[in-house]
Amino acid sequence: MTAVLDVTGLTAGYGPHQVLHGLDLHVDAAEIVVVLGANGAGKTTTLRALSGMIPSKGTVRLRGGEVGGRTSDARARLGLGHVVEGRGTFNHLSVEDNLALGAHLCRGDTGRTQIERWFEIFPQLAPRRKQHAGSLSGGEQQMLAVARAMISQPAMLLLDEPSMGLAPMVTAELFDQIARVREDSGTAMLIVEQNANIALPVADRAYVLESGRFVSQGSASALLDDDSVRRAYLGR
Ligand code: ATP
Repeated sequence: MTAVLDVTGLTAGYGPHQVLHGLDLHVDAAEIVVVLGANGAGKTTTLRALSGMIPSKGTVRLRGGEVGGRTSDARARLGLGHVVEGRGTFNHLSVEDNLALGAHLCRGDTGRTQIERWFEIFPQLAPRRKQHAGSLSGGEQQMLAVARAMISQPAMLLLDEPSMGLAPMVTAELFDQIARVREDSGTAMLIVEQNANIALPVADRAYVLESGRFVSQGSASALLDDDSVRRAYLGR
């Protein structure tokens, strides 16, 4: 079976500062894969390199096709969605208009139908459709960001620290919804997170990133049982 995302030897950085030192990773169909790592490990940089926001070396295959040399717009059109750190919703636009922007990759009436479908999946957003995105709570903004990225039905969704800035209860609800979205849509997801307690239980597999290198990988359940992972990322 071809992986949805297949990455080998990914290196990237900022000017002379190399952050990623040759990452190999794959995400299979309908899998949720988590990259765990402390502050500054290179999690955000990994997603930026994969979606083409920063230049990188190595191979990045999306559904079997090499996209490593393509722009981020081209990768989005080929089915790579990215929810950036800090959500990236347009605060001065309404909830509905944010979704409409996400739907621009859909054809014809499909966009409208998709917008209504996402109001059903995230019912908290429906009564707020005319509100500015900036007036939503942090959790609602994160739901909007996920919905906006999902609306064009990407093959692969990259999610940057969905728990950032959210209260534990809200984070738990958001991850439940992310897991449900995966169940319904079968979308492959790569989630970077510091919060292993919340991310590992919904994940199939995980990689542990330290200083731009993967130091451990395995099934989410094996990593939940791993003493060094528990000490470093589970606070136990
Ligand atoms: P956090 O959880 O704090 O967001 P992270 O694992 O996502 O951490 P990155 O944001 O990928 O880490 O940062 C990795 C390294 O790259 C850090 O040393 C950081 O200072 C550096 N870095 C990140 N963004 C830039 C940038 N735009 N220019 C220069 N250096 C950067």
